[in-house]
Amino acid sequence: MDFMGLMILKDSEQKLKDRFGDRLISNQSLAKLNTFGTGGPARLFYEARTIDELASMVKAVREIEIPAFLLGGGSNLLVSDDGFDGLVIKNSIKGIELNGNEITCGAGEDLQSIIDFATENSQSGLEFATGIYGTVGGAIFGNAGAYGTETAGVLKSAQLIDKQGDIRTEENLYFKFDYRNSILKTTGEIVATAKFALEMGNKEKIKSECERIKAERDAKLPANAHTAGCFFKNIPDKAEKYGKMSAGKLLDEIGAKEISYGGASVFAKHANILLNEGTASSDDIRRLATMLKTKVKDKFGIELTEEITLLGKFVEESI
Ligand SMILES: Cc1cc2nc3c(=O)[nH]c(=O)nc-3n(C[C@H](O)[C@H](O)[C@H](O)COP(=O)(O)OP(=O)(O)OC[C@H]3O[C@@H](n4cnc5c(N)ncnc54)[C@H](O)[C@@H]3O)c2cc1C
Repeated sequence: MDFMGLMILKDSEQKLKDRFGDRLISNQSLAKLNTFGTGGPARLFYEARTIDELASMVKAVREIEIPAFLLGGGSNLLVSDDGFDGLVIKNSIKGIELNGNEITCGAGEDLQSIIDFATENSQSGLEFATGIYGTVGGAIFGNAGAYGTETAGVLKSAQLIDKQGDIRTEENLYFKFDYRNSILKTTGEIVATAKFALEMGNKEKIKSECERIKAERDAKLPANAHTAGCFFKNIPDKAEKYGKMSAGKLLDEIGAKEISYGGASVFAKHANILLNEGTASSDDIRRLATMLKTKVKDKFGIELTEEITLLGKFVEESI
């Protein structure tokens, strides 16, 4: 950053500190807040526990003009080793409520907590998401899904905070859900709360379906590993199962499982899952991903795109 940029950032930082006092943390490690377990600190960090707190921070960000990023569970994220030279806002809006067959919750709730709550109350529809990490907000942002079913299929509406800090409610169609995509990726709006439309079901059946999915995932995914799940998106292809060509399959064919970089490797049972073996930096993971991408491009002419979000600065490098 140039000298002027730094002065402006320091001035913004002071203004935010004047408004938010001790709640604003400097130099917060982000490695502990993402599932890869890598990356540097956030220059500033704020945990929003209510809609009003989140909305007033968004208003302050707009007025003060400081770079900001909204963090959920950090399970679909690779943070630069240099960290993020701005403000990270952690969404910790909690609370779960049942009304008829609708569950309303804070978007900072873990998706798994909502599934557990739904199961306890014999509400069916969320079973497919068993074992998907992260928050409800993150699941809506990326239309998280598994086994051909997605968040889009059960979300009724959500309360959003726009870039001005204004709160409004939008129904499902607004989100223009697509494969691992929603309108939020272009509008920059934040999900504050969500409402899911479910169906009354049989508690034991729901439970056993969740257990079946969990067992299936446990057999395929590394237990307690430092990963963000699938690194790359599958490729749209109507001829394939679920309308997608598996990125993992292409990665298998270039021998991805034999490739590693520094402390980063590819999971032996799934070529689209990159792992921090314990000593990896984010740069190692990024470089490994770039190597894989290049090999897939060379062999198949297909450009893989990241499913995960990158936060902070990375050197764009083809290896
Ligand atoms: C072992 C493992 C398995 C996984 N399996 C799957 C799977 O089967 N299917 C699948 O879809 N994903 C899977 N994932 C990826 C991940 O769980 C999902 O993408 C999840 O929905 C991310 O949510 P998060 O809260 O952790 O988001 P984060 O990682 O915190 O953020 C990701 C992006 O979402 C944005 N975001 C977060 N919260 C909000 C909000 N409230 N409003 C607006 N934007 C927001 C962030 O700004 C960021 O751009 C897996 C991850 C792991 C670690």
